[in-house]
Amino acid sequence: MYYMGVDLGGTSIKVGLITEEGNIINKVSGPTEVEKGPEGIINKIVDLIDEVCKLTGIKLEAIKAVGVGIPGVSRDDGLVYFATNLFWTNVPIGQSLREKLGLPVYIENDATVAAVAEFIKGGTKGTNNSIFLTLGTGVGGGLIINKKVYSGSHGIGTEMGHMVIGKNFYDCNCGNNGCWETFVSATAMNKHCIKLLEEGNKSTIIDKVAGERRLINAKLIFDCATEEDEVALLVVERMIKYLAIGIANLINIFDPEVIAIGGGISGAGNLLLDKLKKEIVKTIYVKNMNITEIVLAQLGNDAGIIGSGMYGKMQLEEGQN
Ligand SMILES: [Zn+2]
Repeated sequence: MYYMGVDLGGTSIKVGLITEEGNIINKVSGPTEVEKGPEGIINKIVDLIDEVCKLTGIKLEAIKAVGVGIPGVSRDDGLVYFATNLFWTNVPIGQSLREKLGLPVYIENDATVAAVAEFIKGGTKGTNNSIFLTLGTGVGGGLIINKKVYSGSHGIGTEMGHMVIGKNFYDCNCGNNGCWETFVSATAMNKHCIKLLEEGNKSTIIDKVAGERRLINAKLIFDCATEEDEVALLVVERMIKYLAIGIANLINIFDPEVIAIGGGISGAGNLLLDKLKKEIVKTIYVKNMNITEIVLAQLGNDAGIIGSGMYGKMQLEEGQN
């Protein structure tokens, strides 16, 4: 028997047929076409599922469950409360897909399903309690407790990127000031870098983008930091300081065995991890128990498909409807 994993993003939809062990047999993708609205996107998902079935010669009846990772917040029954990048509010995607496919369908936040992928096959495999963080344009988080997904009483929990961590010089997209993602996302690094340049700090960064500030990105900033560029060093230092504070908060609350870091910023690799570990110990409460492992996520782009499919499996086995 098989599972279908659907990674619904703001720009593309990826669909893969998955084995019981979480291996991808085959996958397809297409553009999200946000302008076609929920109905158009749901039909596109059904078409892509058909396409994978045809490619692999597997019939729909051989699929035990479908899992869908969404860029938003959803209820257990698959109602998406909101998904900002899709311009969705209260979309019953779970119910629609169940009716169209005649299969069990489970909907979860994209960072949470990526946490499942890391737990099944990646950096947090073999643990009971783990956290996955994705540091990209924004910050997402997923939490596994006792080998099960925890997303709160109403499905709106573990929005770690929006824990308020200090006062910041710009507001979060959610309307609050001081959200963690405004300190530690790639967007946050770009904004801080541009602020320092506007204040007249000297840097090689501006030459490297030929004066085009919109071309500044986290990778460039990390690269310049290794070359001892002062602005880049300040940006990386501040980002890691706040990343460590947020992670220490998570350790103080959840005491996980492992925290895996993914998303574009994790491309900085050991440069990021080494500095981060030195900072975390300053803020954790039980300092002589600095034993939560911090690792890089392992699954990259396939985490969405694998995690969605495996989330479907976990929910089915737990007897969720
Ligand atoms: Zn926020």
